[in-house]
Amino acid sequence: MGFQINCPNCGLRDVYEFKFGGEAKERPGPDADIRRWRHYIYFNKNANGLHEEWWYHTAGCQSWIKITRDTATNRVSEGENI
Ligand SMILES: [Zn+2]
Repeated sequence: MGFQINCPNCGLRDVYEFKFGGEAKERPGPDADIRRWRHYIYFNKNANGLHEEWWYHTAGCQSWIKITRDTATNRVSEGENI
């Protein structure tokens, strides 16, 4: 099931040019306890609906972008370059 991602640097591109980088979530601070780090690393929301994700444009500008994708329909909002 393909879809397209609008890369801020390259424009609208096929998803197969990108590598999935996982859910976008808030990283714990350097002095957070081990349980918070474990939760950050191993647990995902896997939402059915709108979901923030990281994608790496491997076949293009080689930048990480954060997008919002509806996991039920694969509709993607505008990409945000980080
Ligand atoms: Zn790009």
